[in-house]
Amino acid sequence: MAIKPANKIQDLQYFGEFGGVNPSISDASTFTFLSAKTMFDTFEGNADGCYLYARHTTPSSMYLGEALAAMEGTETANVSASGMGSITSVLMQLCAADDHVVSSRTIYGGTYAFLKNFAPKLNINTSFVDITDLKVVESAINSKTKVLYCESVSNPLLEVADIDGLAMLAKKYNLKLVVDNTFSPLSISPKELGADIVIHSLTKFINGSSDTVGGVVCGTQEMIDSLKSVNDGAAMLFGATMDSLRAASILKNLRTLHIRIKQHSYNALYLAKKFENDGLKTVYPGLKSHPSHTIFKSMMNSEYGYGGMMTIDAGSLEKANALMELMQKENLGYLAVSLGFYKTLFSAPGSSTSSEIPEDEQKEMGLNDGLIRFSIGLDNDIERTYQQMKACMKKIGVIS
Ligand SMILES: *Cc1c(COP(=O)(O)O)cnc(C)c1O
Repeated sequence: MAIKPANKIQDLQYFGEFGGVNPSISDASTFTFLSAKTMFDTFEGNADGCYLYARHTTPSSMYLGEALAAMEGTETANVSASGMGSITSVLMQLCAADDHVVSSRTIYGGTYAFLKNFAPKLNINTSFVDITDLKVVESAINSKTKVLYCESVSNPLLEVADIDGLAMLAKKYNLKLVVDNTFSPLSISPKELGADIVIHSLTKFINGSSDTVGGVVCGTQEMIDSLKSVNDGAAMLFGATMDSLRAASILKNLRTLHIRIKQHSYNALYLAKKFENDGLKTVYPGLKSHPSHTIFKSMMNSEYGYGGMMTIDAGSLEKANALMELMQKENLGYLAVSLGFYKTLFSAPGSSTSSEIPEDEQKEMGLNDGLIRFSIGLDNDIERTYQQMKACMKKIGVIS
């Protein structure tokens, strides 16, 4: 594959209104019209390029959306106030009462909670399946199914979806394949592999500064128009709108994403190899031992690597907690949820980001108590980090 998503971001050219090298930030919630007729046409969706009201679009959110659409190779995109704002509006746009969703069972805790606990209130029901088994996925599809939902690299178990295979099923049964690509921006391009809609939580790698939440839906013009429709668009009507100031700030951070992802990936692969060698149960898609290593490799834009996320099994929750507290004390990272920061972040998913998933279901999907999820940081000297982490692990008795 010859796609170069980072080049597509670089090639965009937006000037500020006075020739500034950054686009001007639109500081307005509403926009004037020269004629009443244009205002009417804009409401009807017939006046391209006219801004109406900031909950619909602003120049600043449009710049960010277009950059993300270029990155994912989709026709266009719509940014929102959070990843969950994007995910819920897409699902609500695609599903009506009595519809059915087939979803990976290892997904972000908030998405899981939405599909499991909230959507059934609207009579939208979900079958949660092992997304790596296409036969199981196919047998869960029924006549009411509208959406096939997965994460390209799943949270927190780092299972990798066979997007080609899922896209074939989606085509066969006339479903929309929705892929949350938050864990693998640049590394994987789901649209190129057949996904209909690509979602990101911008909060994570894409913004990379842990200073805001944000989300994006990348898709066809038709899909994005429907999300933004003043009459029945979920993005427009639910109102999870990103502010212009934030959109401008995320756009600036997006421009260094390729450099950051390469360093996250380099550091994560380095540590994963060392930890595995030390006898730790290590999960990282870049390791040959990872069950989805080959499928990731076949899908990836190789220059960006296997991403910054990895897990280790510390053996028990007590050891996991002690290790994380010690690593934080030694300034090796922060005991915090989220990902994509310059510092390494670690958390025990079973008792934090995936605590929405009942304990017995956690067990069934292989989410052990002792699991620590790492978002590996941008450390300049990763060998030094490794030595210091290893010392912590020895002290806690995670390795001998
Ligand atoms: C964080 C995250 C989300 C939710 O995004 P927010 O910006 O926190 O709303 C969705 N999917 C994945 C994979 C995530 O990591």
